[in-house]
Amino acid sequence: MTESNANGAPRRTWLVVGGGVMGLKIARDLIGRGQDVTIAESAPVMGGLTSAWQLGDVVWDRFYHVTLLSDSKLRDVLSEIGLENEIDWVETKTGFYAGGKLLSMSNTAEFLRFPPLSMIERLRLGGTIFYASKIKSWRRLEKLSVEKWLRRWSGNGAFEKVWLPLLKAKLGDAYKQTSAAFIWAHTARMYKARRSGAKKEMFGYVPGGYARILDRWVEVLTQKGLKVMTSSPVTSVVRVDDGPGLDVTFAGGESQRFDNVVSTIASPLIARSCDELTDTEKSKLEAIRYLGVVCASMLLKEPISPYYVTNITDTWVPLTAVIEMSTIVNPDTQLGGNHLVYLPKYLPDDHEGLNETDDDYKEKCLSTLEKMYDYFSRDNVLDFKVARAKYVAALATIDYSTQLPPIVTSVPGFYALNSAHILEGNLNVNETITLGETKLTDEVWPDFLARAKTDQPVTDLQQA
Ligand SMILES: Cc1cc2nc3c(=O)[nH]c(=O)nc-3n(C[C@H](O)[C@H](O)[C@H](O)COP(=O)(O)OP(=O)(O)OC[C@H]3O[C@@H](n4cnc5c(N)ncnc54)[C@H](O)[C@@H]3O)c2cc1C
Repeated sequence: MTESNANGAPRRTWLVVGGGVMGLKIARDLIGRGQDVTIAESAPVMGGLTSAWQLGDVVWDRFYHVTLLSDSKLRDVLSEIGLENEIDWVETKTGFYAGGKLLSMSNTAEFLRFPPLSMIERLRLGGTIFYASKIKSWRRLEKLSVEKWLRRWSGNGAFEKVWLPLLKAKLGDAYKQTSAAFIWAHTARMYKARRSGAKKEMFGYVPGGYARILDRWVEVLTQKGLKVMTSSPVTSVVRVDDGPGLDVTFAGGESQRFDNVVSTIASPLIARSCDELTDTEKSKLEAIRYLGVVCASMLLKEPISPYYVTNITDTWVPLTAVIEMSTIVNPDTQLGGNHLVYLPKYLPDDHEGLNETDDDYKEKCLSTLEKMYDYFSRDNVLDFKVARAKYVAALATIDYSTQLPPIVTSVPGFYALNSAHILEGNLNVNETITLGETKLTDEVWPDFLARAKTDQPVTDLQQA
């Protein structure tokens, strides 16, 4: 006998693979549809890229995270778990490190004085950003290379002096395969940060950071029936021989049977975990190129600049940007009176720089800061840690959307739904959970309902 939920849909067992924000959002929405949901996360803690660690006496995100006023789906989740009204909204400033100087680029007047460019180049650069912010459809842009598009609208001068160093800092040589949709997505998000406020750039954070958000979210979902398995890497998913359902094996060798599996992990890892996918599905999953990141977190006695983000156009600097989190996160109430700076370097997923040792990356960061800021001293550093992730964001290559693997796979009950399906924005928590909600509703759930009419469940939930 199978239970039905209030909406009349049969109640079945689901495993969500991956305990990042995508996995949590999908779990939440399945529980909302009356389903029996377990999350398997390979790490000892939940949260994936949003998870936290200890730096000195401070617990904060391993990778920097801010929320925008326009992040409505994320704010809905925060409301649901009772944290939305605690968000601290802070006006931010942006800096540029160009020609050996630190420059403020926080408003139009500063932009129009930007020294590396002539007046014509500044106007063309400003015009490009404004034009990009007005484009509604990214589909045309994904057919053009980002270089071609930016050279056309900004001109060669602004491209060589500003865009090229920024693209190389963010994408390395992979910028050559990247489409113009990449720059459109970034511009759109930054415009949203301004539009939703009083034309000022406002960023927010929840006191306690993502550690607090994740703890509360998992607690609320657990009270609603979610089962959480941490330190449980999924190694394989195979169809049950004599009927519907999937046998899932974990790294320890043990197996469990589920009616359905939604995998939210990076696409190449999905291909490796399910051998029964077709060759076409596997090759589409494996063809997705990712950007990875090496990112240092540095706890400091003193701040180093007033800018949340300092973009870097000087090509000798081996960092993508300097992110001074404590210009947003209150140092006194959140960071024990200290300051928090992140030093990220984004690299393609096959780049050897992702394997650089912590000591080498630390030395590179500190010697770079000594050159960039003549007042910076190593004595200022209280703690320094290096985080890395191979699979952060799928690269927006030319014609990307036409090459995506299916979410509803050829293996009945196995769904491959991850952030690589984000098409209308850059990678962030709001886009990730919006995608999870939309694709679950439009693709996964209808397929599940259609199959459930004929399939018998593999697990008798009334006995479970
Ligand atoms: C440096 C950096 C800065 C960022 N800044 C911002 C920001 O300011 N604002 C913002 O909104 N977003 C930001 N983001 C993006 C945000 O972190 C992501 O959008 C979001 O965390 C993606 O969540 P996810 O669940 O899709 O992926 P992930 O967090 O990668 O989750 C996937 C999970 O799957 C697990 N897993 C992998 N393999 C297995 C397996 N075999 N079995 C079980 N589990 C497995 C992983 O351990 C991981 O927990 C930033 C990201 C980075 C890296």
